[in-house]
Amino acid sequence: MASLTHQGAGGEDLNLWNIVARMFDKATANLSIPEGLLKQIRACNAVYYVQFPVKIGDRYEMFQGWRAEHSQHRKPTKGGIRYSPHVTQDEVMGLAALMTYKCAIVDVPFGGSKGGVNLDPRQYTREELERITRRYTAELVRKNFIGPGINVPAPDLGTGEQEMAWIADTYDALTPGSIDSLACVTGKPVTQGGIAGRKEATGRGVQYGIREAFKFPEDLKPTGLTGGLEGKRVAIQGFGNVGYHVAKFLSEEDGCRVVGIGDISGGIRSEAGLSIADLTDHRARTGGIAGFPGSSPLGGPGDVLELDCDILVPAALENQITLANVDRVRARLIAEAANGPTTLGAGEKLHQRGVMIIPDIYLNAGGVTVSYFEWTKNLSHIRYGRMEKRLDEMYRQKLVSTIEQVTKSHVEDRLRRDLLHGADEVDLVNSGLEGSMQNAYREIRAALQSEPRHVDLRTAAYAVAVQKVARSYTELGDFP
Ligand code: NAD
Repeated sequence: MASLTHQGAGGEDLNLWNIVARMFDKATANLSIPEGLLKQIRACNAVYYVQFPVKIGDRYEMFQGWRAEHSQHRKPTKGGIRYSPHVTQDEVMGLAALMTYKCAIVDVPFGGSKGGVNLDPRQYTREELERITRRYTAELVRKNFIGPGINVPAPDLGTGEQEMAWIADTYDALTPGSIDSLACVTGKPVTQGGIAGRKEATGRGVQYGIREAFKFPEDLKPTGLTGGLEGKRVAIQGFGNVGYHVAKFLSEEDGCRVVGIGDISGGIRSEAGLSIADLTDHRARTGGIAGFPGSSPLGGPGDVLELDCDILVPAALENQITLANVDRVRARLIAEAANGPTTLGAGEKLHQRGVMIIPDIYLNAGGVTVSYFEWTKNLSHIRYGRMEKRLDEMYRQKLVSTIEQVTKSHVEDRLRRDLLHGADEVDLVNSGLEGSMQNAYREIRAALQSEPRHVDLRTAAYAVAVQKVARSYTELGDFP
């Protein structure tokens, strides 16, 4: 299938594969890695393109699907499946490359992959989406583009837990007797082999990443932002899985004020701050965010990007901040929850203006990190915490009793309950995620400090990732 070439304002190249490749070239210019090896890493190793029919109503419709494997230096390869009418082969390849670098940054031992089907999920019923998803999965099975040790999809734009459950069930039905079949896909409902904390993991990771940046005032200095997250004004584009969780966590746990939210239908703003719980109820009742009491409407889906705010979180699509609108972006910090939301040219202009960008390949890695935990859970066939929780609680009980005996005082009931609570699966998942996000941020900023030619966090993040992948390729050699 021919790739589409997107062009933006002033002829700006908006093709995601080209953008990622140019970013790769920029970052690797400062590294001493042989050219041949760089070419090997940069290339997208394999792309499966398929067209398949599905009966919709009383007629057949043809769908186009892709699954790209950017790098198999670690296996399985990993990456989401996107349902969008705008999916192209180059987009899927670019997103697969981002997955390779993302996994390397958070030390998740997977290669990068991505998939997509050309459809607008809002135009189909649940039964139709099930048939499309199962048929696409069957096509992946047929060509060996899915499997616990080969290629493991996850949710992305337009897909969620339900699609992942159908994928797991289809794979299981087509590979009878395979005891590890649940590990063929992550992001499943907890009741279908998923892991507690996966649904919110990408948003959680974004929160942890932003918190990490705020721990280093010197990193924020060019932005003029000072102090902690409390009271910071945040605007968010996208109110789906990622955007919703970022909005919820930053406002309910960090004291941020969400002053605007945009989605495909438009957007709303409120200088006083939007209550995410009330907005979620409103959306459930009315089917959208428009008309939320106390808010005023934004003109279109892109307007939220131009709101006056401290932190802008693009959490919808790629190519949202481009040369066409960058001069109107007023945020001081851009936290890239979406993949590829800022073009290279726009990023450079923002950097010149002292705007900090926490890059996608680091910031939205929470999803794949917790997917890794889900995959290992499926392969070990046991829920995290099941073996040790009771024992842990018994040790805690002994400790509290000893403290009471030695101090001859009583530990107050609420504190006792907290102290005696052994870790549940979600506690373990979140602590593993937090540790991963902390380590990765520190590694990237150390790379930036030690090599000023990296210029910004994105270039430093690419450099960290490519060096790890290069090491792996070198150690493996090439065979056959
Ligand atoms: P989603 O389908 O749950 O939500 C997408 C949101 O974006 C919706 O609110 C939708 O209305 C909005 N949107 C779509 N088109 C838009 C447009 N043209 N303008 C403005 N808003 C628009 O998707 P998601 O899973 O939240 O993914 C969002 C982004 O995060 C994507 O870039 C995806 O690749 C990235 N991401 C997702 C995950 C994950 O675990 N789901 C992990 C890493 C990265």
